[in-house]
Amino acid sequence: MIRESHKTTGFVLRTLNYSESDLIITFYSHDFGKFKGIAKGAKKSKKRFANVFEPFSLTNIIFTRKSRDMLAFIESCDIIDHFNTIRQDMEKTLIASYFIDLTDHFSPEGKKNEKVFELLQDFLFMLNREKTSDAIIRFFEMRLLKLAGFEPALDHCIVCKTPVTNGNLYYFHANDGGIKCSTCAKPQRYEKPVSTGTVRTLLLGKDMDIDKIKLITLTDSSAIESRSILTEFITHVLGREVKSLRVMEQVRKFCT
Ligand SMILES: [Zn+2]
Repeated sequence: MIRESHKTTGFVLRTLNYSESDLIITFYSHDFGKFKGIAKGAKKSKKRFANVFEPFSLTNIIFTRKSRDMLAFIESCDIIDHFNTIRQDMEKTLIASYFIDLTDHFSPEGKKNEKVFELLQDFLFMLNREKTSDAIIRFFEMRLLKLAGFEPALDHCIVCKTPVTNGNLYYFHANDGGIKCSTCAKPQRYEKPVSTGTVRTLLLGKDMDIDKIKLITLTDSSAIESRSILTEFITHVLGREVKSLRVMEQVRKFCT
């Protein structure tokens, strides 16, 4: 059978030791979405694959494969961007690792989505250039959820459909996929409300121009509320906790 040869650009999502000398790499690529490939001799031949297979590296990949659902054979892989500024900073490295991990969790294999590739590219370049912020993390989550088809309803009460109104308090219900106004929510005493400001900031961050994100600073309460909403929702959608999120949040708490 003839193996077709392909060329694409992709981010390294993760690697797996396959044998003493081979690696299996999962990429998120521009032209093929998420796919896995084997790099023969990757652990021995430093010349052929010089440190390219590190998480979130952006690479040029040439590969062959017999069919779409088969493991690709990596012919060559060269670094486009290694994101050195991110790698020199532990907090940035953890955020980038979280972005990669979340993209991996929300992307089915073999499904191309150029917008997801661009999201990852935009946010990693931003992280490489700018200071870290809660807005960068939360807006990445909002945008990825939207692209993956799991956008939470935050612009209206999911029961009475009344649009978000300033001065009102809302309650987030992950199981129902959105917010309820204080009249419809019938909150328990332990349930924490979310302010209109937080809801509006998340809605804004979902679509705003990428270059403007660096100008956004979340207030402390908004940072806490939006983290709680999105963490709860992502855990609900995936049916499990994202480990890299917990590690990142713990270290960020420690750093600030
Ligand atoms: Zn309502």
